[in-house]
Amino acid sequence: MRTIGLIGGMSFESSAVYYRQINEMVRDQLGGLSSAEVLMYSVNFAEIVALQKAGRWDDAAARLGDVAHRLQVAGAECVLICTNTMHLIAPEVAARISVPLIHIIDETAAALKAAGSVKPLLLATRYTMEHGFYAERMAESGVSVMVPGPEDRTVTHDIIFNELCAGIIKDESRRKLNAIIERAKADGADSVILGCTEICLILDPNALILPGFDTTTIHAQAAVDFALADEGVRSSCAA
Ligand code: GLU
Repeated sequence: MRTIGLIGGMSFESSAVYYRQINEMVRDQLGGLSSAEVLMYSVNFAEIVALQKAGRWDDAAARLGDVAHRLQVAGAECVLICTNTMHLIAPEVAARISVPLIHIIDETAAALKAAGSVKPLLLATRYTMEHGFYAERMAESGVSVMVPGPEDRTVTHDIIFNELCAGIIKDESRRKLNAIIERAKADGADSVILGCTEICLILDPNALILPGFDTTTIHAQAAVDFALADEGVRSSCAA
């Protein structure tokens, strides 16, 4: 089994979901008491949020690039940035390591395409919805992302940072997010990307009025597929 490296802490609420899901997926696949080989470097999210707010993306890239390098030195055979937003600086992080960076946008685009979804609504932080890096990378895979209108973007961003990243789940906020999805459906969206790794804490991707794609689960599954790639070969050889 290959060792998975996680850059976590953005926020720790979603990193905990990654850790649990990755281990559950490995146990499901290998059985018994099997669990994943995982290294996690969990950062102080307050420092990262301060850099985001100041638009200091170069400094954030240097910080997360350093973390990625440390994970590789410690034995990680792949690295995941456990947040959609910080994929804004994924190229700079990838440049600091020689093991694969498993990219959340590419994995999500592949899942959308496999399901035949071509016009998803992107629910995410303001940075992810407005900076263009997400939609551009999706477009390279033939997926045309829709974002909510300005007011709905503010509502979504505030729910993420003021509530979900702080471990607060409110029914009222769930209703607001579902109303945003209803409006997007009326505007032609064919699916929803839970494009922030905390949104799965408040929305069940399988209980929406449109097909839901949870980036946390998709990303975790990609890591497990990578980690167990050789196991599959071994067990089929043995069979
Ligand atoms: N975890 C969130 C995401 O997937 C937001 C936190 C952050 O700004 O990194 O974008």
